[in-house]
Amino acid sequence: MTFSVHGQAVSRGIAIGRAVLVASSRIDVAHYFITDEQVPEELMRLRNARDGVVAEIARVQQTLKDAAGMEAHHELNALLDVHCMLLQDTQLQDGVKHWVQDRHYNAEWALTSQLEQIAKQFDEMEDPYLRERKADLEQVVERMLRHMRGVASPVPGPAGSAEVATNHEDPLVLVAHDLSPADMLQFKQSVFTGFVTDVGGKTSHTAIVARSMDIPAVVGARTASQLVQQDDWVIIDGDAGVVIVNPSPIVLAEYGFKQRQGEVERERLSRIKNTPAVTLDGERIELLANIEQPQDTTPALSVSAVGVGLFRTEFLFMGRDGKLPDEEEQFQAYRAAVEGMHGLPVTIRTVDVGADKPLDRNVRDDHLNPALGLRAIRWSLSEPAMFLTQLRAVLRAAAHGKVNLLIPMLAHTSEILQVKAMLAKAREQLDERAVVHGPVRVGAMIEIPAAALAVKMFLKHFDFLSIGTNDLIQYTLAIDRVDENVAHLYDPLHPAVLQLVAGTIAECRAQGKGVSVCGEMAGDVTMTRLLLGLGLRSFSMHPSQILPVKQQILRADTRKLRAWAQEVVQSDDPAALLAD
Ligand code: PEP
Ligand code: MG
Repeated sequence: MTFSVHGQAVSRGIAIGRAVLVASSRIDVAHYFITDEQVPEELMRLRNARDGVVAEIARVQQTLKDAAGMEAHHELNALLDVHCMLLQDTQLQDGVKHWVQDRHYNAEWALTSQLEQIAKQFDEMEDPYLRERKADLEQVVERMLRHMRGVASPVPGPAGSAEVATNHEDPLVLVAHDLSPADMLQFKQSVFTGFVTDVGGKTSHTAIVARSMDIPAVVGARTASQLVQQDDWVIIDGDAGVVIVNPSPIVLAEYGFKQRQGEVERERLSRIKNTPAVTLDGERIELLANIEQPQDTTPALSVSAVGVGLFRTEFLFMGRDGKLPDEEEQFQAYRAAVEGMHGLPVTIRTVDVGADKPLDRNVRDDHLNPALGLRAIRWSLSEPAMFLTQLRAVLRAAAHGKVNLLIPMLAHTSEILQVKAMLAKAREQLDERAVVHGPVRVGAMIEIPAAALAVKMFLKHFDFLSIGTNDLIQYTLAIDRVDENVAHLYDPLHPAVLQLVAGTIAECRAQGKGVSVCGEMAGDVTMTRLLLGLGLRSFSMHPSQILPVKQQILRADTRKLRAWAQEVVQSDDPAALLAD
């Protein structure tokens, strides 16, 4: 049966493929493809985990038997018997084996996928007693997963994932309830041609990583992961934010045509790759890349980015079970990015974890308002040893090329002064060790309304500013950027947002200081003319957006846009003026 699901369009284009469901259970596991050679090893891990849990249960039962008042434990004993039976259940065993052998899922993924399938059957049962057995099944699977966590599991490598591409004949699309940014990074160089998640907003970090992968994506599709079945044919329309499941041949043909049109458009855009980004009236515009890992410098250079405007270093820190990268590891990563850009500047942002970017996917931030909590620079300043380590690594990388240091989420003078003191200390520490380091220009992100309003204060302390519109919108409008329930209120064109952006750009220009936008607004082609009209000359975005934005720049005349842009900012309905 054909049906469609609507969500937020976050990454352009059309993807058509078979659904790969990443289990959405509360049990959070790694998902990756294994190679043919790894299949026996994964099956062995599953067998060991099962046998281990059976033995664990037997031990508990023995203890109960030995204990006085065994009768009191009769019910518990019976429950443990049920658990043992579920563990040996052929539907669980055979299903898991199928995911590993035929689909090359890693053991944990296979186990949770099969759990989802069986759980659905339990949900449909009439008998309440049998329906309740679902919770027992979840418990035994959880036990197996915990057991596996104690056993060394092979680390998924992007190369390994790419290799597996050859094992699948049909293109694959990923469907999940949610994916952490760290999960997304793991999928970055893998086989998927598109993805869908139930949760998330346009500027959630998961969506941002999707855009950097340059594959069609829809987030906030609410119940998609429950409605779509493994192997269903799925069309993802990343422009319209629509997911069509089991399409008819006519619909499939129509989207196939759209997909080819998209390819032709991309091909056409690639012709302006080497054209300088200069407006009709001769204004030279700086087009920079946002990256998450050093290897992203390759796609950045392939579209002629003139530098990196935002290196989100937190991706080096995430999903490591709390073991943070040391100075040497970070230095190697930053140096790789600097060298990768062959002399072009690289802006390294200090770690911005917290809120929707947890350090570890298994550790949920249970503070009431994580986005207003110990995030970004606040966390860095609360962990001085970690922060100094990062600053030293950045300063060392600066000896290998042009490096700018960017500080996220600042609001207070006291924070600014602490950052400066830490930077001086990091230099001192390197001098004491006689380690080579280089000069850095230091900039602040303007992503809290207070910072935008106090821009003069910021300019006293910094060489340049970078406007983080994703958070600036979130905090100005009090809209959680990851919450699909309020996604319709997340409005880059709200007059208050535009006034803060316009004011920041104007003040920087008046003082002759550099200013860029590095939030998603910079890569949104519908905003390019407005930002140019407001005086912005430096845009930082995912490499995939550079050429579409350049096309807008080549057609623009900033002299004609100036008065119009002021009108838009002052308007009660900027969207209407922008559409004209
Ligand atoms: C922003 O907030 O606009 C930004 C660029 O930072 P991030 O998206 O990483 O929070
Ligand atoms: Mg931000």
